[in-house]
Order: sequence, then structure tokens, then C-alpha cells
Amino acid sequence: MAVYRERYILQGLGEISPEMEKDLDLAYDLCEALNEEFPCEECGKCCHQELITVLPEEVDRVSSAANIPLGEFMSSYVAVTGDGRIMLLKTNPCAFLNKDHRCSIWKSRPQICKDFPYMVSTFMSRVYLAIVNKDADILEMIDYMDESWPCTMKIKGCISERVDEARKIRESQIR
Ligand code: SF4
Ligand code: SF4
Repeated sequence: MAVYRERYILQGLGEISPEMEKDLDLAYDLCEALNEEFPCEECGKCCHQELITVLPEEVDRVSSAANIPLGEFMSSYVAVTGDGRIMLLKTNPCAFLNKDHRCSIWKSRPQICKDFPYMVSTFMSRVYLAIVNKDADILEMIDYMDESWPCTMKIKGCISERVDEARKIRESQIR
């Protein structure tokens, strides 16, 4: 069963103990700082991925922005998975990606698109695991990231240093 903290699934973790909270805060703060430092360059490359989630509270906003009646949006544009998540059906590329590689619903895009790639479960979980394990190599842990994307290049350029800084903060908190 998935373990959630806020809206993120913690991959590779069976539970969240109270002792883990401070380290998870460190990991989340690091990812949030990257998200603010390196705004999306709107290259559209990540809009070719298969798994794009729309939160229930976002359905009205996204369908309105796309000018698609709600009934048609629910029947033709999304599918509900067995665990209740609402996923876009028309992907790779996303149905809302324009020919100029810009998102046609940018201001109303789903939260996952705003969070990607810094504040998503896959990355945040690895950052946490790298912070708490001093022998872990974060670059190896994120070798799934495509290096040709502007944002993932930024991550790969600074993440080792950022994890080291977070480990030092962690050590000073333990002492
Ligand atoms: S690949 Fe990165 S920079 Fe390009 S649109 Fe996606 S989040 Fe933005
Ligand atoms: S909604 Fe917009 S930002 Fe999100 S995947 Fe589709 S085109 Fe890209």
C-alpha cells in the first residue's frame, strides 16, 4: 500500500515514523527550493510522458480551461484507475500541448505539471533516501532522468552538493 506524505507517495518506504519527519522536511525543502530557483522553461518535453494525474478538485478547472464540457472530459479525456486516481488518457503528447510545444492551459494546468520534476514523488523519495544514507549516490539514484531536458540538467548539475548540504544540517540536528 502506498505511503503518502502530503500529496506525495513515498516510494521505497513502508511507513513514516515520527523520527523520519525532520529528514523528510529537509528533503521536501530542498526540492521546493529547486522548484523556485529553476522555473520551468516551457520546452514541452515532459508533456510527452504517459502518467499525468488530475486531482479531483482540478477536474472542473482543467476541463473549463480546455473548453471541454465536463461530461466529455470525464468520458473521453481521463480514466479513473483502480486506486481512484484520475489520469489523462490522451498523452504522449498530452492533448493540451500546442504545436509550438507550449501548454494551451498553462495557467490552469494540473498540479503535477506545476510540480514536475522537482516536487514529485519519484524524485523527492530519492532525495530523502540520499540524505539519510551517507553512502548513497544521488546521481546514481536519479539516473532515470533524461539529461536533455532543461530542468533535469539543472538538477544533475547541483543535486550532489545540495544533498551534502542537507546531510550536514541533519548531522548538526542530531548532535
Ligand atoms: S521538461 Fe522541464 S523545463 Fe521542459 S516543460 Fe517539462 S518541467 Fe518545464
Ligand atoms: S497539461 Fe499542459 S503542462 Fe501538463 S502535460 Fe499537458 S501540455 Fe504539459
